[in-house]
Amino acid sequence: MALKLYNTLTRKKELFKPIKEKTVSLYTCGPTVYNFAHLGNFRAYIFGDILKRYLEYKGYKVKHVMNLTDVDDKTISNSQKEGIPLNEFTSRYEKYFFDDIKTLNIKPAGFYPRATEHIKEMVGITKKLLRKGIAYKTADGIYFAISKFKGYGKLAGLEKAQLKTGARVSKDEYDKENVQDFALWKFWDEKDGDVAWETEIGRGRPGWHIECSAMSTKYLGQPFDMHTGGIDLVFPHHENEIAQSEGAEGKKFVNYWMHCAHLIVEGRKMSKSLRNFYTLRDVIEKGHSARAVRYLLLSTHYRQQLNFTFEELEAATKTVEGIIDFIDRLKEADGKNHDTSQIIKKATTEFENAMDDDLNISEGLASVFWLIKECNKLLAESKIGKQEAKKIMAAMRRFDKVMGVMEGKEEKIGSEIEELIREREEARKRKDWKEADRIRDLLKQKNIILEDTGKGARWRKTLR
Ligand SMILES: [Zn+2]
Repeated sequence: MALKLYNTLTRKKELFKPIKEKTVSLYTCGPTVYNFAHLGNFRAYIFGDILKRYLEYKGYKVKHVMNLTDVDDKTISNSQKEGIPLNEFTSRYEKYFFDDIKTLNIKPAGFYPRATEHIKEMVGITKKLLRKGIAYKTADGIYFAISKFKGYGKLAGLEKAQLKTGARVSKDEYDKENVQDFALWKFWDEKDGDVAWETEIGRGRPGWHIECSAMSTKYLGQPFDMHTGGIDLVFPHHENEIAQSEGAEGKKFVNYWMHCAHLIVEGRKMSKSLRNFYTLRDVIEKGHSARAVRYLLLSTHYRQQLNFTFEELEAATKTVEGIIDFIDRLKEADGKNHDTSQIIKKATTEFENAMDDDLNISEGLASVFWLIKECNKLLAESKIGKQEAKKIMAAMRRFDKVMGVMEGKEEKIGSEIEELIREREEARKRKDWKEADRIRDLLKQKNIILEDTGKGARWRKTLR
C-alpha cells in the first residue's frame, strides 16, 4: 500500500508524493522558549516524531527543520519580569527543551534555526510584501493586508464575512473570532526594552508569524513538502504563514499540512487554574517513566483528542513493561525452533497497512501486540529457539524504529541486587519463608519484581 495522509488544506486523505522522489522536506513549528513545554506541546512533537520515523521506515530521507521562537511578546515580557537579557533567558529554556525531547526519545530535527538569527530574511519578505502592496506601514508597525491576498482563510476554512478588513492587531496571538490584518514588523516601543533591530524597514522586531515563513523556506525552499503542528496553530499562525509566503513569492508555500488534535487532562482542558497543568518534568517527578509517557502520547491517533489520565499512564507503563518483558524472554529462549515467519509476516503487513492509512497507530500497535501474544504462547510451550528468537527480535526492532519505546538505556542490575536475589534463593532453600518474603519486598522497593518459576526465580525490572 502507498502512504496516504490527511491534508488540513484539502480536508481529505491524499496519496503522499514528495517533490523530490526519496527526500521529504518537513517543517515543524518549534517551541517558544519562554517556559517549560507542557504535555500538550509534547503530544504535537511526538506526532511529528512518529510521522518522521514512519517516513524513514519507508525509506525516505527526511530533511526536518524545527524553529525556536526566541523573540515574541511572551519571551520579551517574561525575560523583563526576571530582569535578564532576552538571549540569556531563552537559552535557558532552549536547553530544557532539548533535555526533554531527549528524555522522550524524540529524534532531533536536522536543524533548529533561531528567530533572532534570521531577522534579515524576515525583513526581506516584508520588503517584498510592501513592494507588492500587500503590506502597509502604520505608526506602530508594518501590517499584512488580508484583503489583498485572495486565498486568505483557505487553511482554516474562514468565510469572507469573518474577515474584518482594515482592522489591525499587533499582538502575536489574537482573538480567533476577529480576523484582522496582522503585524509583520513591530516598531520599537518602550515595552520592548532593549530588544530591537535596526533594519531597512525601521527599528523594531518581527511579528511571530513571519518568523516561520522566513525560516522554513530558507532551509527547505518553496514549495516544500510538509508542515506540521498542533491544531491550535492552524489559525492564525499557519494561515498567516501561507499568506506571507505565497503573497511574497506568488507560488505555493506547502503541499501537505498536518495537525494533531488537542490533549486534555483527566477529561478537562489543561489549565493552571484547574491544577491539571503538567510539564514533562512534573509527571516524571511523580515517579512515572518517560517511556510510558511517550507510549501514552503516541498511542492515540493524532487526529483524535487525547485524554491524558494517570490511570491511562499506569496502563501504558504495564504495556511498555510487557514489551520489555517479551524481549527479555526472547533473549532467554532455548526451546525447539517452531517456524514463526508467518506470524512475523502477517504482523508486519498489517502494521504497515495501518500506518499507511494516515498513520493509524492504534491498529498498527494492535498488530504488534498480536505478534507478542502469539509468540508468548509459543515461548510458554518452549517452541521458540535461539534462531527464531533472533528473527522475532529483528521484527520487534523494526516496529520500534517507529514506536521508539524499546530503545533507551539498558537497565543493568546492580551487584547489590544480585546479592539480594542470591540470599533470597538460599533462604528459600532452607525454607525460611519469612526472610525470603522480606527480601522480596526489599527488591520490590528497588523496582525488581521476582517471579518464582520451576527453574528458580526469574526477575524483571519495572519501569520505575
Ligand atoms: Zn510556526
